[in-house]
Amino acid sequence: MFDLKGSRAVVTGASGGIGRSCALALAASGAELVLFDIHAERLEDTAEQLLDVGCRATVVVGDVTSESDRARLSEVTLDGGAPDVLVNCAGIIKRQDITTMALLDLDVLWDVNVRGTVGITQSLLPAMIQAGRGKIINLGSLGSVTGLDRRTAYATTKGAVALYTKSLAREVGQYGICVNAIAPGYVDTSMTSEWILGDSMRTEQLLSRIPLGRFGRPEDVDGLLIFLASAASDYLTGQVIMLDGGWTTT
Ligand code: NAD
Repeated sequence: MFDLKGSRAVVTGASGGIGRSCALALAASGAELVLFDIHAERLEDTAEQLLDVGCRATVVVGDVTSESDRARLSEVTLDGGAPDVLVNCAGIIKRQDITTMALLDLDVLWDVNVRGTVGITQSLLPAMIQAGRGKIINLGSLGSVTGLDRRTAYATTKGAVALYTKSLAREVGQYGICVNAIAPGYVDTSMTSEWILGDSMRTEQLLSRIPLGRFGRPEDVDGLLIFLASAASDYLTGQVIMLDGGWTTT
């Protein structure tokens, strides 16, 4: 039920903490991989780690905000047929007070987190529709369902990702395509490390709100990801699933 042998998965943001872990987990479950990220060197590192588990991944270096890069990803991917799984993991954050947030900051975050996610999906969706199957997994955040202080622009984009997930699920369900979002809490990666560990008082405050008593690790995302990518979740769509150690229970 969780076996992904014979399926092809595209992972954006595959050189980052969560994206790399997702790629490794998908490969360990038998999927072939197409990796996409703006960061060439770290993307090659991911590809090398995949080789260690016997997976020769296709690497495409590019920017999710670039139409030509998205077209290149689509061309390279579709060369091997429609993807079975798409993980939209590329994302950026900016922390600042609401009073100093410029509209330009919102534009930059919107471009990557929302337009990037929507654009990458648009470029691969026609082939998935034609194939009559597929699993699209977007990365949300706590900000998909709740306010985040000093991260207004980020939360705005992740709230949009949540409703994009639900809207897309409604439209493409008829083609056998499931669309869900994983919404992690605080996972220790280069995106969050300084924020969650850089100030001991803040670290304590954050931890005190997490019933499981620790920050997440990128590998904590793997199980849910494989569930959503596999036949085990064939009747699940349009959901934003919190993976937050219990943060949103309070
Ligand atoms: P990360 O910074 O380690 O990884 C993000 C990846 O996206 C990087 O590899 C980066 O190079 C890539 N990327 C950024 N802009 C890009 C662009 N324009 N084009 C292509 N690639 C681009 O961060 P992470 O923590 O692994 O985050 C992965 C996803 O999970 C993001 O969408 C993030 O918003 C989401 N998320 C993370 C956390 C957390 O606590 N770490 C919590 C909730 C949601």
